[in-house]
Amino acid sequence: MKAIIKNILKNLGLYYFLQGRYRQCLFWIKKMYCRIKYAKYRGSGFTCNCCGESYRKFVPDNPTDENKNAIALNQVIAGYGTNILCPACLSTARERLIMALLINEFKPTGNYILQLSPERNLFRFLKKNNNVVTADIEPLLYKSIDAQVQHEDATCLSFSNNSFDVVVGNHIMEHIPDDRKAISEIYRILKPGGRAILQVPYSTTIANTFESPDLADPQKQSALFGQKDHVRIYRLQDYINRIKQAGFKVSVIEYNDLAVYHKNAIQDKEVFISIVK
Ligand SMILES: [Zn+2]
Repeated sequence: MKAIIKNILKNLGLYYFLQGRYRQCLFWIKKMYCRIKYAKYRGSGFTCNCCGESYRKFVPDNPTDENKNAIALNQVIAGYGTNILCPACLSTARERLIMALLINEFKPTGNYILQLSPERNLFRFLKKNNNVVTADIEPLLYKSIDAQVQHEDATCLSFSNNSFDVVVGNHIMEHIPDDRKAISEIYRILKPGGRAILQVPYSTTIANTFESPDLADPQKQSALFGQKDHVRIYRLQDYINRIKQAGFKVSVIEYNDLAVYHKNAIQDKEVFISIVK
């Protein structure tokens, strides 16, 4: 029944519009709830670099019954754990890692930036001092973040060669069936010396990336890959190799070398993959 309604709404062109509104409502309700529930934890410990608020602990996020085996068995670093969501603004640990590097190290100013599947806080920060274009294959999901969001297929971008200073696609490649094509498209549109921010969930314990790019079964995808719209779990080194194959220079900043940002409750154990054209 659920699938039938979904198909009808898709055919009417309403599905992603309603889904976007639904997500926005959930976001505001959850934000209000967390602010009230976590008021008692205000104090030093962790500081959110998106909103500036400090708490002794942040909101945890745990896998569901559907995906917990995939996450645990493959030891995927995927945005779960303690101290994931800021109680004040609901920024995520993966967003705060990128925010820490943008604020303290990359400091983009006057740049032409493409942000794919835009995350709210990163978009707000970037647009203050840069010209930011946002895009997604389902732009209606992102209207509440940027009303100007465009339709783009990451594997076939409409932009010209060497046009952007920075491309941000935080946790998108694990969703894209032909990720190699998307990575090479991002390489094509970046200027020489331009930076790509393309973090993904990954494992360092599995022998190889395992994937099923054509699988379109949310339940199976959750059970296999840890999220209902993911098509693979990357082995970290294999992901790095795929990026290098597109022509990028890649280096890794280990979690321990990000210690200065641990106070911002960044994702536990997550490394930063530095990618430059
Ligand atoms: Zn916050």
